[in-house]
Amino acid sequence: MPIRRLQTDILILGAGGAGLFAALHAQAANPSLGITIAVKGLLGKCGCTRMVQGGYNVALAPGDSVERHFMDTIEGGAWLPDQELAWTLVTGALERVRELENELGCFFDRNPDGTIHQKAFAGQSFDRTVHKGDLTGIEIMNRLSEQVWARGIGRLEEHRALEIVKTADGSAIAGVLLVDIRTGEYLFAQAKAVLLATGGGPTMYRFHTPSGDKSCDGLAMALAAGLALRDMEMIQFHPTGLLAGPHTRITGTVLEEGLRGAGGHLLNGRGERFMSALDPRAERATRDIVSRAIHAEMLAGRTSPNGGVYLSMAHLGPDNVRRQFGGMVERCADCGFDLAAGRVEVVPTAHYMMGGVEFAPDCTTALIGLFVAGEDSGGVHGANRLGGNGVANSTVFGGIAGETMARWVGREGGFRDPDSTAIDAAVARTERPFREGSAGDLESVRERLCTTMWDDAGIVRDATSLSRAAAVLTELAAELATYGLPRAARDRAFNLTWHDWLNLDSLVSVSRAIVTAAVARTNSRGAHYRRDFPDPGDLATSTYVQVRLHDGAFDCAAVHVSFSRVRPGQSLLGR
Ligand SMILES: Cc1cc2nc3c(=O)[nH]c(=O)nc-3n(C[C@H](O)[C@H](O)[C@H](O)COP(=O)(O)OP(=O)(O)OC[C@H]3O[C@@H](n4cnc5c(N)ncnc54)[C@H](O)[C@@H]3O)c2cc1C
Repeated sequence: MPIRRLQTDILILGAGGAGLFAALHAQAANPSLGITIAVKGLLGKCGCTRMVQGGYNVALAPGDSVERHFMDTIEGGAWLPDQELAWTLVTGALERVRELENELGCFFDRNPDGTIHQKAFAGQSFDRTVHKGDLTGIEIMNRLSEQVWARGIGRLEEHRALEIVKTADGSAIAGVLLVDIRTGEYLFAQAKAVLLATGGGPTMYRFHTPSGDKSCDGLAMALAAGLALRDMEMIQFHPTGLLAGPHTRITGTVLEEGLRGAGGHLLNGRGERFMSALDPRAERATRDIVSRAIHAEMLAGRTSPNGGVYLSMAHLGPDNVRRQFGGMVERCADCGFDLAAGRVEVVPTAHYMMGGVEFAPDCTTALIGLFVAGEDSGGVHGANRLGGNGVANSTVFGGIAGETMARWVGREGGFRDPDSTAIDAAVARTERPFREGSAGDLESVRERLCTTMWDDAGIVRDATSLSRAAAVLTELAAELATYGLPRAARDRAFNLTWHDWLNLDSLVSVSRAIVTAAVARTNSRGAHYRRDFPDPGDLATSTYVQVRLHDGAFDCAAVHVSFSRVRPGQSLLGR
């Protein structure tokens, strides 16, 4: 199989908030560097940053503070976040939001006095979410893309990264093997520094919110390269996914948090409000708590016609709802629901992965030359991400990664020779479905994967369900390993069946990491709830779960969380 070659000083995988910010900051730090962005979709049109609805958390307003934002992040994350990463997030967000407005030209909504409007999001002690209506991500991505297009940054669009390729001695990254989706040709991009910014995305669950291009490829590549992932058991379910029936892919897409923040009510199938009995913050409790409460209503059979619960906004005044949440009102109307004056059926939906590659605040990883930022990284949010901290994470750390890579390449960077046998092995693995005989049924694999993860490794888990999930995942991995493309589907150009197989391969591998970590955590924290271990455990001796793939098997370790700024029971406020 011929392999094209390309050399670039910096290779960025992914073109969401993390990837684009990294490219701009790397170029600003050293304009002489060759920078290339490789992206599975079209630049500016793919990934989840574009889908951001609610907004961006930053402690701008008088009365708010970075300490307060930090404490909300740590407590929301059930004391599992890495405190240096969380501190970098809350302090960096201040700088980044100014940059978004003043250098990139984002127009965020304003108060009548000209200050930036900040709305309420759940789990926060202050209204700090900056936004552009309820379609904030489009504003951010359009402005970022314009800047990237204008600056001569290289683009490999519709190029899928397949494998991290190391040097022969395994000590550093040499480059990345990619496939051009438009032709099916392979490309080896040799780079001095590589950023992993493919954005996680828990699309292995029956109901999920992320964009269709996301299949955890970056995390699967990191596992295959032997890197340690942390917090993989922490899958965030957003409480209010639209539930419009099984016939439409709009089912599962998210209705933004600001609806609950503004005072929306959740009602069960009998029309009863159930959150106020469970948490003093009622519907404004964190996502994990609200999702579990909805799940309990579903298990008890108190559901709406499609099997979820209702979101009701009408008591806030239909005109007011239409004015504040125009995008959401339209989305619901497309499915026959009246959000402003009626009720909308909703279901918890897999939204975000708190887990990812272990990294340092400067975005370095354990592999020399590999950097990580955004949803592929782990440790910023711990057990639960606050709404509004996701896009802050990708843009803050994306910018930092760009600066770090530019400095690092100037200081230490040289092209390193790849292990050519590793490239050949990666091509052979990717080519497998062109060689194998039995066609199999990818749709059935996806169906079983999504059902298993939802039922057995979802909002509520226990040892029995997780062991069932592990067994099914082993079967699915074996099925994928022997899958062969049907004879009529062997054209390489835009071969969606082949890419579906690759997507499923990544998803099954990362699902196994999720299940392994969920088995290892024998307590309940944030998004991870074990029916058989409902207590949170001792906060003062908190550990996070580290997972690694080694010779085809997953290893787990419990690592103590370092309380470098504040210990459980203490607060940075009022010091
Ligand atoms: C519907 C929705 C609403 C959200 N609303 C909010 C909100 O209001 N506030 C908030 O803070 N967060 C929100 N989030 C979360 C937020 O979008 C993410 O936290 C963040 O934007 C992730 O940024 P990223 O750059 O890491 O990944 P993304 O923006 O997802 O970008 C990933 C990129 O990697 C590319 N890619 C994937 N695989 C490969 C591969 N194999 N090779 C090459 N490229 C690849 C993708 O095509 C994409 O370009 C929302 C998420 C969703 C899904």
